[in-house]
Amino acid sequence: MAERTIEILSPRLANQIAAGEVVERPASVVKELIENSLDAGATRIDIEVEQGGLKLIRVRDNGRGVAKSDLSLALARHATSKVYSLDELEALVSLGFRGEALASVASVSRLNFTSKPASQADAWQVQSQGRDMLTEVTPAAHTDGTSVEVRDLFFNTPARRKFLRTEKTEFSHLEEVIKRQALSRFDVGFSLRHNNRTIHALRPALTITEQQRRIAALLNPDFMLNSILIETERAGLKMTGWVGLPTFSRSSADMQYFFVNGRVVRDRVIAHAVKQAYRDVLFHGRQPCFVLFLELDSLGVDVNVHPTKHEVRFRDQRLVHDFLFSQLHRALAEVRPQLGAEPLV
Ligand code: ADP
Ligand code: MG
Repeated sequence: MAERTIEILSPRLANQIAAGEVVERPASVVKELIENSLDAGATRIDIEVEQGGLKLIRVRDNGRGVAKSDLSLALARHATSKVYSLDELEALVSLGFRGEALASVASVSRLNFTSKPASQADAWQVQSQGRDMLTEVTPAAHTDGTSVEVRDLFFNTPARRKFLRTEKTEFSHLEEVIKRQALSRFDVGFSLRHNNRTIHALRPALTITEQQRRIAALLNPDFMLNSILIETERAGLKMTGWVGLPTFSRSSADMQYFFVNGRVVRDRVIAHAVKQAYRDVLFHGRQPCFVLFLELDSLGVDVNVHPTKHEVRFRDQRLVHDFLFSQLHRALAEVRPQLGAEPLV
């Protein structure tokens, strides 16, 4: 190979490389946009997609918004309003912190970002066509909050586009993301429209009854009829949520939702604790159903493990494992004598 000089990546190429980690498909875009809306304190998030998100994804919120003077920075890489220091990173309370999502998405799509903070009289917009990463700020019309529109994902990266599946498959991934987000924040209203059809319209669910209704609407009404409510706290760890009765199991692990400090996670420690707790009450090969929320001090959990932020690392794994196992085991033992009897509501 001929000698090649070393050069610094152009911003666009650097962003496209980063996008490889964060943006896999339309569903990953939706996840990042909703996280941003939640971080902005939105109480209402409206999602509209066309062709499974391949053609258009639009997320509109009523959150804090971005001031005109900050607009172009929102799309820049390593630009964030959420973390200014290592101390803040370690005590993180926001969902985002890497300052990479918008830059990544912008580098592989046509993106419009429109925003109006309540304190600002007018709305402004920045657009990016996935080309030079330079943006121009133009006036726009918008109520308080932010809208992000992402069109033609991967239009400029054909190799990535080849990995996309059919509209139907992409939409089902996207809907799954929205399910998780809507389960993670009962206090926020969500709506989802696909090809001009309303799929979900969820008002904020503040009471337990409303929350159960939301879960029934998102997952399966039978789950609500066949689960028990859990609410328990010990040594700075708090777990709430619903666990399915052993009689309501599934052949696959498709109804398992675990949130740590409001973040959807996949974690070995958690998975093992839950599995152990159900071990004696489930038939071999059957999977339990649950929607569980674990809360702990943000210093006790590191979320900076993976770019998609799906993984976490607990400072005290044993403590977390034993807490989950013992509390779930106890709750399941209490309902055991009633197996096969009337479902608990
Ligand atoms: P991160 O979320 O890690 O900070 P992003 O690239 O996702 O990085 O977003 C960059 C910045 O843009 C955020 O830190 C935030 O200040 C701003 N931003 C993005 N989306 C919104 C939104 N919906 N409402 C308000 N501000 C937003
Ligand atoms: Mg973000």
